[in-house]
Amino acid sequence: MKSFDNFQINQKQSSIKWGEFVLKRTYGDEFGFETRAVHTGNDVDGETGAIKRPITMANSYELPYDPTNVNWSSADGNLYTRNGGSNQKYLQEKLASLEGGEDCIVLASGVAALSGLFFALLKSGDHVIFSSVTYIAVYRLLNELFNNKFNVETTIVDTTDINAVRSAVKPNTKLIHIETPGNPTLSISDIRAIADIAHENGALLSVDNTFASPYNQRPIELGADFTVESLTKYINGHGDAMGGAIIGKREYLDVIRAQSQVNLGGTISPFNAWLIMRGSVTLPLRMRQHNENALKVAKWLQKQKNISFVAYPGLENHKGHDIAKSQMSNGFGGVLSFGLKADHDTHNKFVQNLRVITSAVSLGHDESLIVFLGEDDERQYLYPEEFHNGFFRFSVGIEDAEDIINDLKQALEKVNLI
Ligand SMILES: *Cc1c(COP(=O)(O)O)cnc(C)c1O
Repeated sequence: MKSFDNFQINQKQSSIKWGEFVLKRTYGDEFGFETRAVHTGNDVDGETGAIKRPITMANSYELPYDPTNVNWSSADGNLYTRNGGSNQKYLQEKLASLEGGEDCIVLASGVAALSGLFFALLKSGDHVIFSSVTYIAVYRLLNELFNNKFNVETTIVDTTDINAVRSAVKPNTKLIHIETPGNPTLSISDIRAIADIAHENGALLSVDNTFASPYNQRPIELGADFTVESLTKYINGHGDAMGGAIIGKREYLDVIRAQSQVNLGGTISPFNAWLIMRGSVTLPLRMRQHNENALKVAKWLQKQKNISFVAYPGLENHKGHDIAKSQMSNGFGGVLSFGLKADHDTHNKFVQNLRVITSAVSLGHDESLIVFLGEDDERQYLYPEEFHNGFFRFSVGIEDAEDIINDLKQALEKVNLI
């Protein structure tokens, strides 16, 4: 029997309280990261006693006796799945806990999370600073859409340089958005220092934590206001679902949630939220293997005579190694970039000869993925010199490190680079 006894509907603005679904068992900070990755957000299902909460594929929830007081734009209660559903809430509980934030919004993709954040926070006349190395959609959203269409001022800054960040700040700077490690160059920005600059100037800092995952880095604990994350990558980890998340303070997230879900419609499907919930259980185990494998592969690549460069923050010669060490607690992630001393077509031939490693975009999957980013990337002028002749972004998977290295080796041999 369903009952609305637990829902409190007081007035038009108030939310339907999420009564029946409150966790009976809670897993707070007294538990370690790995315990929370397993348990937080899960509970015994109230209806069946199942020890895993079920997928709820319904797009609507039953209304109370008198629905006229329901706020149709509320994102808090169980009303309509675009406004919010059970499975996304379970996942939100877990991710808020793993990232060390007050609250979390889970959306349809990493880009839905980025655009949800930007749309809710920025208005015309505001100024935003963002890293010269970011996911391409950040560049498109801020530097083309928000800038040209909505009169939001944008400044692209090499955020590895603290002085450059400081001098880019203006009286109307509302937001600084950084990505560290940055996609695709693996540049490292100092989260603590940039958070200080933002806060001294009344601005907010958001950090894209996709490359690190909360196992390796928790930006909110380092002073950021928001962590943004593509769940499509490490958090899900199995390459079979898309999602994104924003983690931060409730006062901001309430507003962002209403905009990004109810009005922009970036809601995640219950099935994808369920898949990501399932995948995220093994995040710590997978990250340990990604960290270990990527470091081994980076060190091996570094010794090959026809590799032009290797960018991995775990290498001591990486420009951002010391800062990475100070803000990444368990390791440096599974993504690295490298170049070949070879012409354009040899890069493609090399990829064609790989047998374990797959040529595909995306990253953070269980399997190793590689993508050749050619010489004519429009943002190349923003990257360091060594990236100008074409390079690979390589997401090192959780296979045997030896098999990954042997695969690279045999493919290099086939194109006469060993
Ligand atoms: C993939 C990615 C995104 C976008 O996430 P989607 O889930 O593909 O929308 C954002 N930021 C970074 C750093 C990414 O790698």
